[in-house]
Amino acid sequence: MVVTSASGARFQDGLGRWLVDYHGAGGPTVLGHCEPRVDRAAAAAATGVDLVGVGCTELEVTLAERISAEVPSAERVLLTTSGSEATYHALRLARAATGRRLVVKFEGGYHGWHDAVALNLFTPRELIGSTVPLSAGSMPAVTEATVVLPFNDAEAVGAAFARHGGDIAAVIVEPVAHNVGALLPEPGFLEGLRAVTAAAGAVLVFDEVVTGFRHGLGGYQRHCGVTPDLTALGKALANGYPLGALVGRADLMDRFSTTIHGDVLFAGTYNAHPASVAAAIATLDVLTDEPVHEHLFRLGEAARAGLAEVYADLGIPAVTTGLGSVFVTYFMDGPARTYTDLLAGDEVRFVAERLALLELGVFQFPRSLKRNHISYAHTGRDIEQLLDATQTAAARVTADME
Ligand code: PLP
Repeated sequence: MVVTSASGARFQDGLGRWLVDYHGAGGPTVLGHCEPRVDRAAAAAATGVDLVGVGCTELEVTLAERISAEVPSAERVLLTTSGSEATYHALRLARAATGRRLVVKFEGGYHGWHDAVALNLFTPRELIGSTVPLSAGSMPAVTEATVVLPFNDAEAVGAAFARHGGDIAAVIVEPVAHNVGALLPEPGFLEGLRAVTAAAGAVLVFDEVVTGFRHGLGGYQRHCGVTPDLTALGKALANGYPLGALVGRADLMDRFSTTIHGDVLFAGTYNAHPASVAAAIATLDVLTDEPVHEHLFRLGEAARAGLAEVYADLGIPAVTTGLGSVFVTYFMDGPARTYTDLLAGDEVRFVAERLALLELGVFQFPRSLKRNHISYAHTGRDIEQLLDATQTAAARVTADME
């Protein structure tokens, strides 16, 4: 697909079609595409100070203070260019602080492209239970040091700690498992992770690259009341400009140094690029000053309720779920607690429906289990159009399948 321009809730493809965008670049554009206030701030910063590569800018300090005021775990803030860098640094820091080797992640979680976490996403049923790297060329010594457990399975977590406790440096988790749509944490699951890591002296890392700022200014951690040791942020933080952050407990974060052999190395030529940092401050301004989350949650609820009704009317087995601005429909009867549950879904319908929606001017990423995002630029009218288009697309797919 070639994209020629983007604005608000829509983008234009190379065929000249304007599509209503529910992919939202995988989550960053929480305010919509090319939000003028964000773009103006980034442009102003870029013409005032570009990359100097020494010291920090006032913008960076302002942003760090703003994040620290909102996110419960953010006693210290370091800025990166992407979410992957934030999770990479989190795990290296955890290993340094604990002197341990193993990392625990969950089946269906995605935390970036690096070897320690780029495994066990969209795992075929027959491989569940083994280590499945996402990429050729991954280092076995690294991937084998990651223990993969089922999401929402406190018993499995307890068993892993009973077996490896003294070797576990960190548990990393998306508090809502959004990389397989939306698996919501069951009551007690995140609290259990907090308790077991604290008892074992392991570091709890919340990956809030998707949930942070999209579901609320304080991230999902403020919503659920569980404070991790470290948090990775990115995506909605800067509404589409390249920026990530690692935030967390002062005693851990203070181990970072930009000096080679200084302690835990924190490096990156483009870290805290002024244009991205200014974009993030402007994004936080809008998120703070306007009823953005109220709008996102209202439209999200309308989409989920409306979609559930569409599928019920058509007699198509479907679980429509999500949180706030994120929604997804799994074509199955339920439940949707763990990744393994989702394997019961009808993948053929999932993709076929999204391809049918594309013909109707609606873009949802055509790959099974991919979530949708609503932005502040979407309107109630867009959601009505989505429901109409879904009804048409679903009926077409049913007819084609018969
Ligand atoms: N963590 C989560 C939960 C993500 O969804 C992603 C990207 O999709 C990442 C980390 C990696 O972020 P980035 O693509 O900015 O490196």
